Amino acid sequence: MKRFFCSCGAEIFFDNTICVRCGRLVGVDAEGCEMFTLKPKKNGLVAATVGYNTRYYRFCEHRSQESLGCNLLIREEDSGTQCVSCRLTRVIPDQSIPRNLVRWRTLESAKRRMVFNMYKNRLPFENRYQNPVNGLCFDFLEDRRSNPNLTNDVVYTGHSNGVITVNAAEADPQYRVTVREEMNERYRTTLGHFRHEIGHYFWMRLIQGTKWEWSFKQLFGDHNEDYDAALKRYYAEGPDPNWQENHISAYASMHPLEDWAETWAHYMHMNDTLETATAFKMLDVDIDQTEFNIVLNKWVELTVIMNALNRSVGKPDAYPFILSSTVYKKLEYVRELIVACRY
Ligand SMILES: [Zn+2]
Ligand SMILES: [Zn+2]
Ligand SMILES: [Zn+2]
Repeated sequence: MKRFFCSCGAEIFFDNTICVRCGRLVGVDAEGCEMFTLKPKKNGLVAATVGYNTRYYRFCEHRSQESLGCNLLIREEDSGTQCVSCRLTRVIPDQSIPRNLVRWRTLESAKRRMVFNMYKNRLPFENRYQNPVNGLCFDFLEDRRSNPNLTNDVVYTGHSNGVITVNAAEADPQYRVTVREEMNERYRTTLGHFRHEIGHYFWMRLIQGTKWEWSFKQLFGDHNEDYDAALKRYYAEGPDPNWQENHISAYASMHPLEDWAETWAHYMHMNDTLETATAFKMLDVDIDQTEFNIVLNKWVELTVIMNALNRSVGKPDAYPFILSSTVYKKLEYVRELIVACRY
């Protein structure tokens, strides 16, 4: 993520609704990948000064702190009441249960960051209103483990034809840590879930039935392999014992489509983190342009520092991954695809 500054000169951060130094209103134009200081105007509009021009926006209806604290802006010409991220959500967990607001907020906060990355990478997508058949939407669901009044025993986080289902309990740190331990995972975050699931969406959108399918098969394997059988095998026998040679994570060895989603999510972590490090002048990498070997060398250098910093404050490694040469090739494929398919 790049850095943003208020008109008073203070740094403002992606989730802020006001500048903490001067108290001015601030907000994010996700489509334009910008964050602005805002002046209230008539008719519910707010104005941002951009060079010699003024742009007008409205606030997302979820902006208040009692609601989601959503700071994304709606462009003046857009007649919606919700921002481009909030309007992607189709089902929310039962709001008569108080802790579900906290869960919904946590999920939306991670989703906003992911949506901003999608615009930043100029990835083509449609929402469910634009494309009712396989446009993108999110269902945040509970199951009986967190709400005994429901009929669903288990809600699995996953993607199907544009619908991304997320178990709302993934917003609870305690639940996430428990599942991470049970599944013997080294990394489990809400942002990681969103990046993984959107990877499935972009597979459907950018690879399925296109000229990219052939090269996908060469690198990741045959996506037509029986998914249910692979899933059963994975949970019965565990991951491929040599998974580190070919995959970014143990789970990625389950099926070519999971390998894809894990690799995509990983590329998005790199993409965002390298941009942040470059914005803070720790290094100088343009992940789209720089030769990919150099990108990876810089990335490894950076992650060594990230892990060392975390250990110094008594935290587990921020980046518990080792990249093999096969994983390098898969990550490069993700970059090639994104650069070729952007709008
Ligand atoms: Zn300020
Ligand atoms: Zn919003
Ligand atoms: Zn998946």
